[in-house]
Amino acid sequence: MSKPFALPPLPYDKSALAPVISAQTLEFHYGKHHQAYIDKLNALVRDTPFEAQSLEEIIVATTDKPERASIFNNAAQAWNHAFYWRSLGARGGGEPGGRLLELIRGSWGDYASFRAQLAKAASEHFGSGWAWVVLDSGRISCMTTANAEVPFTRGRTPLLTIDVWEHAYYLDYQNRRSDHVVAVLDKLVNWRFAEENLESARSDVAMTA
Ligand code: FE
Repeated sequence: MSKPFALPPLPYDKSALAPVISAQTLEFHYGKHHQAYIDKLNALVRDTPFEAQSLEEIIVATTDKPERASIFNNAAQAWNHAFYWRSLGARGGGEPGGRLLELIRGSWGDYASFRAQLAKAASEHFGSGWAWVVLDSGRISCMTTANAEVPFTRGRTPLLTIDVWEHAYYLDYQNRRSDHVVAVLDKLVNWRFAEENLESARSDVAMTA
């Protein structure tokens, strides 16, 4: 039975993130790039056992398997982009709250130092990829992954992500990735989404403890 993956609805209007991320960027990034990952994945898994699996299951099953690289890349990019849209929102930015802020202060002293490290990691990542805030052994950490790679195949729980592929910012910022990253951090990041991911990760740990 065919169960094609579908492009998840964008959680806001295409003009909601302007001027940092313009409606034109979203037309291409969401409407063309994200859609293309979904379309290619559906074509690749058709009539295979992967068709019955979730995106996460496909990603875990195909990671580090060169012969499955196309399926991995398209499944992981479909997952990453769905997570990325939810990591952003109009009137975002500022400091997170709750337990997330407590953990950040515990490791960095204050939010400003954490923000500086995340901005540096995202700006300096070489080539295409993703900057992440993750939960790693009970601590908040910043990391980047190359191309389509995801943190959860390496034992880290993703809380928030920033797409640093050129297609994420080139129409609005051309080569100025670091200006784009700072604007995303100050105006668009949805810390509420990260706080919710942290809470579900902690309740998962509590349930399996
Ligand atoms: Fe992207």
